[in-house]
Amino acid sequence: MLKKTKFRPLLCRFHHHVAIVGSGPAGFYTAKYLLEQNKSLKIDIFEALPCPYGLVRYGVAPDHPEVKTVTNTFDEIAASPRVRYFGNVEIGDNNSAHHDNHLPLTSLIENYSKVVLSYGAHSDHNLNIPGESLKGVVSSRNFVNWYNGHPYFQTLHNENFSLSNCTNVIVIGQGNVALDCARVLAKSTDSLASTDISLIALSQLQQTQVKNIYILGRRGHVQSAFTIKELRELTKLSNVNVHIDPVDLQNGLTGSSQSELESSRPKKRIVELMQAIAEKSKEYTQEDISTRKNIYIKFLTSPVEVLPSLADTQFVGQLKLHKNKLTGEPFRQSPKSTGEEYLVPCDLLIKSIGYKCISISSLMPFDSKRNVVQNEEGRVVPGKVYVSGWLKRGASGIIGTNITDAKETVQHVLEDLEKEQIESDNDYDPIQTIRQHYPQVIGRSVSWNQVSKLLSHEKQLGETSQPQSIRKKVLSVDEMLRISNNK
Ligand code: FAD
Ligand code: NAP
Repeated sequence: MLKKTKFRPLLCRFHHHVAIVGSGPAGFYTAKYLLEQNKSLKIDIFEALPCPYGLVRYGVAPDHPEVKTVTNTFDEIAASPRVRYFGNVEIGDNNSAHHDNHLPLTSLIENYSKVVLSYGAHSDHNLNIPGESLKGVVSSRNFVNWYNGHPYFQTLHNENFSLSNCTNVIVIGQGNVALDCARVLAKSTDSLASTDISLIALSQLQQTQVKNIYILGRRGHVQSAFTIKELRELTKLSNVNVHIDPVDLQNGLTGSSQSELESSRPKKRIVELMQAIAEKSKEYTQEDISTRKNIYIKFLTSPVEVLPSLADTQFVGQLKLHKNKLTGEPFRQSPKSTGEEYLVPCDLLIKSIGYKCISISSLMPFDSKRNVVQNEEGRVVPGKVYVSGWLKRGASGIIGTNITDAKETVQHVLEDLEKEQIESDNDYDPIQTIRQHYPQVIGRSVSWNQVSKLLSHEKQLGETSQPQSIRKKVLSVDEMLRISNNK
């Protein structure tokens, strides 16, 4: 649990420079509170991609545009005369310096008063079961990046899975990302066309025959990680039946689950919704099931082995699962196999079991159990390097969670600056020194003014296309750079 923090505005006579790595919510909220609490400090934000916003652009579902309005706040922060944006600059270790957009972390540590790492989660967990490397098995991160137009994932449908002849999809995991993936697959492509979905993904989705989507959880319904609003949204999709088996609800209601329910009102409400869905499931006729798409939410089941398709042995064809029962104390219940196994046909398997943070520099202590940079309330290397966002506390929490998190880190950055009383030369500009050593990297970077051209261009493309859409995302880095650099 993060400690509540109180701020005391800090007056500083000197222009300290802080580097922030990553321009997702954590990076922007860190910048916001630094600017608010110290009236002279200057901030440079380094972002690996030309475009900003992190998972607000490449995570949040295309049919949730209201969530993305948070970028208005981020734009205000970026517009501050005390903030500079360096898009297309990836920070990492010296030994991975093979890209022309790569800057070693040491160059920031040496030239800035403080460095805050806010680079999020860029890897996946594995199920560690046989057959996991078959084609047609993808992580939710890859799948989400693909439909959201992330430039590195736009050929995924050629290399890793195929949506043509795809009837049965299994999603492993029961968080909100699992529901996002299921909803994008179940939703009419006509309604997706007006969003900012990748046009490549849209065209693949238009060709798919997805009929059944299974969302599978290893534990019971009370332990599912999704939230009520997102579950209810599934039940409102047109031409989609949502099924929950009442037997699953019965089996999941252990004594410990009942205690969990008693102490949480939101849990009680979501379970009531699940019960209503289970009741409604009984009413679906054979015709309903055969004429509409079906989402089956199944609890207490774990994957055992991914089996190949008979038609093409490189591709997934079935998933072997076993049924589970719950054991353990309230809030610590774990799944145990009942020994009963069964098979489900599967043309696409999405592993939605959480994003994973990784280390970008061996200089930073990394906790490879929790997959975070080791830190104490955001302090990594006291007096020098700090961390915020998913990288600080693990890949969990909504956009708003990063506010309290950033405030805590900022408090420590400012406390340390004050304690050190280091005098900073007001004319010093860290970028000038870095440019001397890495002229190509800084030369190829994209400023906020430049990236704003790209963002306006995308919006305009969306407004003038048929059908109209919120924006048409540019899907390659080269094209992003070309548009941003247009005079
Ligand atoms: P990120 O948003 O991932 O930002 C990290 C940034 O760092 C990225 O821009 C990345 O390109 C950059 N970066 C990475 N490596 C480097 C490097 N080496 N050098 C420079 N830059 C680098 N929350 C909600 O409130 N509502 C939602 O609807 C919602 N939907 C979500 C959907 C999905 C699929 C996911 C995964 C999350 C969703 N969330 C949602 C949660 C929310 O997106 C996160 O809480 C938030 O984005 C985490 O912020 P962050 O800044 O830590 O990480
Ligand atoms: P999450 O909420 O942590 O859910 C992960 C799911 O994967 C859990 O059901 C977990 O089950 C399961 N899981 C983990 N390891 C597994 C394994 N080995 N085998 C089977 N199942 C496994 O993660 P997420 O869905 O990636 O979401 C990340 C964060 O973003 C969350 O905080 C989420 O709320 C937020 N988000 C919000 C929205 C929104 O507000 N609309 C949308 C998307 C994401 P156990 O509980 O059993 O471990």
